[in-house]
Amino acid sequence: KKENNEFKTLTSKLKREIEQVNDELDKIKKVNVTLTQETLVDELTKLYNRRGIEQMFNTLSPFDTTDQMCAIFVLDIDNFKLYNDYWGHLQGDECLKIISQALIELQSKNIFAGRYGGEEFLMILKDIDADAVYAIAERCRQAIYELEHRIDDLYMAEVSASIGVAFSQTDLSVMQVLQAADEALYQAKSEGRNRICFAEPRLQSQLISV
Ligand code: GH3
Ligand code: MG
Ligand code: MG
Repeated sequence: KKENNEFKTLTSKLKREIEQVNDELDKIKKVNVTLTQETLVDELTKLYNRRGIEQMFNTLSPFDTTDQMCAIFVLDIDNFKLYNDYWGHLQGDECLKIISQALIELQSKNIFAGRYGGEEFLMILKDIDADAVYAIAERCRQAIYELEHRIDDLYMAEVSASIGVAFSQTDLSVMQVLQAADEALYQAKSEGRNRICFAEPRLQSQLISV
């Protein structure tokens, strides 16, 4: 009888200890999820950072032939070095935050935005048709151009961005599509900035003529 009682006490003690360990484990798991999320987000802008973008790329790669079209935007702020030189680096940081907020507002189930580095951003649009992609790129460009970057009571800075767009193709890797978007961005810069260029010139002329 005595042994039986000791055994009961021991098992209930053990149960409690197991429960405590499980509680601790749950807490650790929650902290771990938060930490993992933090490593994917850019501190300044709260957009996904390079690591977050790469994780998103992994979910896209390879492009599924049955998937609807996917597009990648590379968006770069125009003459941002001049902005920093003129208004100061802290004001430059503010500008990046304001622009990022505008991009965060455009995010949805199928639209992902990240800070690729410096003053360069990236958007991934999934399951979307070419007209909608053009509309969203134009909305981005215009939103940035119309943002109010108030410096003080007297001054308001003006900022624009250029966007290069490329569409997924079943024979291209995500990196190749990104490269095509980057080339389109360079074209947008060389054509005068504050504009959108498409990697596929034929598509660009069709969209612009509508
Ligand atoms: P372009 O229109 O050709 O893109 O000209 P740009 O001046 O924007 O390009 P450039 O590459 O010459 O300069 C980018 C500038 O972006 C230089 C750098 O100081 C600034 N920049 C990059 N990251 C940050 C940041 O986190 N904060 C601030 N304030 N500036 C940044
Ligand atoms: Mg720039
Ligand atoms: Mg740049």
